[in-house]
Amino acid sequence: MNDKANRPLSPETITAQAMGGIDPETRALVPPVHLSTTFERDADGGYSSGRAYARPHYPGYDEPEALLTALEGGAESLLFASGMAAATAVFQALLPGDHVVAPRVMYWALRKWLVDFALPWGLEVDFVDTGDESQIEAAVRPGQTRLVWIETPANPTWAITDIARTAEIAHAAGARLAVDSTVSTPVLSRPIEYGADLVLHSASKALNGHSDVLAGALVGARQDAFWQRLRAWRRDGGAMLGPFEAWLLLRGMRTLFPRVRQCSASALQVARHFAAHPALAAVLYPGLAEHPGHAVAARQMSGGFGSMLSLRLKGGEAAAMQMAARVQVFTRATSLGGVESLIEHRASIEGPATPVPADLLRLSIGLEDPGDLIADLEQALEGLPEIGESEMPAVPVPNDPIELVLDNHLRPQLRERGGDLVVRSLQDGVLELGIEGSPGAVVAVAGFISNTVQHYLPEIKEVRLAAPAPTGDAAARLQALLEDEINPAVAAHEGRIVLAEFADGVARLRLEGGCQGCAMAEMTLRQGVEPMLRAALPEITVVDVTDHAAGRAPYFKTKKGSS
Ligand code: PLP
Repeated sequence: MNDKANRPLSPETITAQAMGGIDPETRALVPPVHLSTTFERDADGGYSSGRAYARPHYPGYDEPEALLTALEGGAESLLFASGMAAATAVFQALLPGDHVVAPRVMYWALRKWLVDFALPWGLEVDFVDTGDESQIEAAVRPGQTRLVWIETPANPTWAITDIARTAEIAHAAGARLAVDSTVSTPVLSRPIEYGADLVLHSASKALNGHSDVLAGALVGARQDAFWQRLRAWRRDGGAMLGPFEAWLLLRGMRTLFPRVRQCSASALQVARHFAAHPALAAVLYPGLAEHPGHAVAARQMSGGFGSMLSLRLKGGEAAAMQMAARVQVFTRATSLGGVESLIEHRASIEGPATPVPADLLRLSIGLEDPGDLIADLEQALEGLPEIGESEMPAVPVPNDPIELVLDNHLRPQLRERGGDLVVRSLQDGVLELGIEGSPGAVVAVAGFISNTVQHYLPEIKEVRLAAPAPTGDAAARLQALLEDEINPAVAAHEGRIVLAEFADGVARLRLEGGCQGCAMAEMTLRQGVEPMLRAALPEITVVDVTDHAAGRAPYFKTKKGSS
């Protein structure tokens, strides 16, 4: 800690000096990398050093955590092995049955994790447009909503959420507000000042800034019980950052202010330059007055609007791919916040369930001369079609309230998991929904489906997921169920469920085909198919005899390489 000055120092100063720490042993300005995982215990059994083992007490976290805490104006910070490890810790510290409100547009891997893992673990997650406060207000369930999660600016449209207003809504419902502030960094925005309870950073991005460290961090506004639970989760779950990564992160952070300011200024210059380009349908950047979130961004960000912007091409996906192929100064790569500028076609990274338009290219602006970046984009755009239809067909908005709830609050999640719902009937307040696609995607989250419908449509007294009604003896009925209801759905995942053996009321089922290796495969069997079979044939016992290691195909393939 810096004890040289007799007055409070500015964030720029404490960051450049990494809190001004001097190694007490050697008087070194740069901290050592401690590799020891264990620390000597005193003769009386105590730990007078305050450290016993690296997982709870790694010394190399002290300085970067203290610096981040100071920059964010929080009470304490926790470093994690990645941004995802930090973000998922927050959800894993909740309890089954807790309800979470999250943005429809957000960092896609976290949205996918919520859908694939948090839902089947019993969290209820409602995705809304958090740029529209009335949607957050409508979604929160006082007493059940424990967390409102926002990302601002949000990947990859850079949609802005009003932090202060969202904090009010969350707190009034008894929920915490967590803000993914990766794109803003504490240089541009300090969410705790606007009422946030937790701040998340993928420190792999601008905090480190050199595309050579994977790291994540949480900052807590106070050291309350939930914070202690997060601390315990990290210690016991063990998603720790390595010693050298923590050291590199602190080194990267020393230049945070000039990097973020320069990248933001260049991003604004690039955005302004291309705002009226004839080949572009839109330039998405919160620093442009025409961006829908500009006024709120101007209120809660200062010193710039970040290094991220997106371009939507009039010529659609083909033009976007062509432009990305032509760049010479930008590098085609994922990630953001590094010193080098990157360009990326997001939709093809995010897979078939993405809400990202196929005509969108995401740009991360680095420290190069903005003139070089503009010239590179100009030459890449040259000759691309200047007129064309938007790739996104206008989505018809249903006026049936049940269809609206399904479309807005359930289908996107279920489709991402490979399933879907259709309305079969509504009688005397009982809504019967038919399952389409993967049963595992739907049956496993039956509670979430009925709670969500009843939250938005309290007049519906009961939601039933239509179970097939088989006839015949047990083995034949089971076979019929597999053929008629289950295998057509599993076929969409390149798989098939086979009744390997049926004896003494025990049905041994094997999942075959590429689907075996899909991340959803085991869940499909355990949380989808098995409960369905049990409901239809309560007398049988289902045993899974699949060799899950034998799978070939993931659920979806991004266009990575040729395989
Ligand atoms: N949040 C945002 C906004 C991100 O862009 C990312 C990664 O791209 C993450 C979280 C996840 O961070 P990491 O890749 O460090 O796990």
